[in-house]
Amino acid sequence: MATVEYRNITKRFESFEVMRDLSLSIADGEFAVLLGASGCGKTTLLRMTAGLETVTAGDLLIDGLRVNEVPPRDRDIAMVFQNYALYPTMTVAENIAFSLEIRRVPKAERRRRAEEAAALVGLGEHLARYPRELSGGQRQRVAMARAMVREAKVFLFDEPLSNLDAKLRAQMRFEIRQLHDRLGTTTIYVTHDQIEAMTMADKIVLMRGGTIEQVGTPDELYDRPVSRFAADFIGSPAMNFVEGTVEANGNAPAFVAEGIHLALPVSLTVAPGSPVVCGIRPPDLVLNADGSIEGRLVLAEKTGPDVQLHLSVAGQDFIATASRDAAVEAGGLVRLSVAPDKLHLFDPQSGRRL
Ligand code: ATP
Repeated sequence: MATVEYRNITKRFESFEVMRDLSLSIADGEFAVLLGASGCGKTTLLRMTAGLETVTAGDLLIDGLRVNEVPPRDRDIAMVFQNYALYPTMTVAENIAFSLEIRRVPKAERRRRAEEAAALVGLGEHLARYPRELSGGQRQRVAMARAMVREAKVFLFDEPLSNLDAKLRAQMRFEIRQLHDRLGTTTIYVTHDQIEAMTMADKIVLMRGGTIEQVGTPDELYDRPVSRFAADFIGSPAMNFVEGTVEANGNAPAFVAEGIHLALPVSLTVAPGSPVVCGIRPPDLVLNADGSIEGRLVLAEKTGPDVQLHLSVAGQDFIATASRDAAVEAGGLVRLSVAPDKLHLFDPQSGRRL
């Protein structure tokens, strides 16, 4: 196991700068998820960690030692890719043990370690099968076992679940996280899927255009996003945003926009009259006959236990999450309230949290 530390990392592909001055620490045994939209630099950071890509400037440390110039095979890191890259002519056991063969580990030990790793990922019965005889999820597990068998200090995962269907993805999320809890190996996992990040991570690193937008636990990112960008990226359905102003009625500040008047926490320090963007997560909007937000129901979308209410509030689209038995009718008017401490205020210019 190991710590991983990035100190002021900059990465350029010729003159194209994809990452600037990025600093980040990953603790021993931590499950860190690099989350961000396509092209933000997640894979590049992972590949630099593995030694598959050079670092233009800055220091990359594994267990406190600078490894910028250390070749991949000497970094003691195992990587699982999106396309599992299994050898089609090798059995499950041979695929898993292959990296040990290259490292000249004796045959009996190879066999023992491959069997152990296969058992850990639930493939103990399938050692003699070929990749073509396995399902997508089983192939992904072979790729994981192949990484685990190395007993590496750090596991790197690059979007390992994106080729799987939704049900299998949910199952593999759980399996990978369970495996991590059992082995305790420091893990860096790349995804653009916020659900994967929220469900698996100890620490989410939200990236944006080659820099870090926010680092925190899933709860921290959900409850206190540092910016409108972070607020919008985390949570499904996405947060509602509405532009308005902060007004003061004596000691009681309020957010006011067309058709909306919401009490704000009294501790708020934003000056009255300031323009702000108010963010409200759909599950924080509560159906309430006395609520100060009035909306017309455009569509009720049933998702199983919940229903997503698509509303028009003063001409603006809003989504509220209600329970499936909520008495609502398409075209009808509904009233909603939201607790003051569930409101998120952002600066309209910078997008930063106020
Ligand atoms: P995705 O989720 O689509 O894989 P990502 O966040 O992992 O995206 P990267 O693959 O790290 O993004 O790419 C970051 C940026 O660097 C992109 O603009 C990409 O086009 C660019 N890039 C990546 N590899 C190279 C390369 N070898 N040469 C030039 N540009 C590159």
